[in-house]
Amino acid sequence: MKIKEIQSKSILVKSGLSADYVVNPYIGCMHGCIYCYARFMKRFTGHKEEWGKFVDAKINAPDLVKNGEKFRGKEVYFSSTTDPYHPPEARYKLTRQVLEKLIPFQPNITIQSKSDLIVRDIDLFKQFKKIIVGISISTLDENVQKKIEPIGSSPQRRIVALKKMKKASLKTYCFISPILPEITDWKAIISKTKNFVDEYWFENLNLYPSIRGNILNFLKSHDPKLVKKYQDIYSKENPYWHEVEKEIATYCKKNKILGKIYFHHKVLKK
Ligand code: SF4
Repeated sequence: MKIKEIQSKSILVKSGLSADYVVNPYIGCMHGCIYCYARFMKRFTGHKEEWGKFVDAKINAPDLVKNGEKFRGKEVYFSSTTDPYHPPEARYKLTRQVLEKLIPFQPNITIQSKSDLIVRDIDLFKQFKKIIVGISISTLDENVQKKIEPIGSSPQRRIVALKKMKKASLKTYCFISPILPEITDWKAIISKTKNFVDEYWFENLNLYPSIRGNILNFLKSHDPKLVKKYQDIYSKENPYWHEVEKEIATYCKKNKILGKIYFHHKVLKK
């Protein structure tokens, strides 16, 4: 793994997402999830290495938090194209230092990870008046998790992280993403976490071309009969995702769960 220390020009970047600003203290992500959409970043950064095999650490990130007043009350999201708590964060503490710099200006923070390193910064999270901390889980099966999110914390450790953050009186969410047909048991994830999660966010697998090969290779080794199933779901007007979406909405309503659904409904051409 190559970690390069770089000087960046900016760290809080205006966002077209639901947040006002996004913070990405690293280019690349050591978690290297096989379904990660952020690999598109390579087009802009000139990296030739495989996604997950390079990281640039923006070592001047904390110094780039300037004119902090403009972030007061704004929505700030960590992170859109990296994981703010992937392994290099243990050494560089860039996420931590940027958070520290933001405390006096009290933006509304949303922060999400697949790593239980996130609990290291509970002391800082507690200093924001408006913050929601999230853990992303796509499966409770550690064998599957190792194949699709090879470096992220195990599902069990993520659940413990959620528990610790709730115990610290933080508002928490569980991002059930990506939902993989026939693999992700979203009801089981809810059942394991409902006592310490305030909100659930749901996203289905977006099988866009740059990850399609990865997913099909994974399915061939995991359960070859799923290859055909996924091809059906994604290659024609199939009601599958509309039905899952409806099922989630009904389940949340019935069980008084605050759920937000972020589903993609794209049909891919062969
Ligand atoms: S943790 Fe997030 S940013 Fe990192 S590889 Fe996985 S999906 Fe991509």
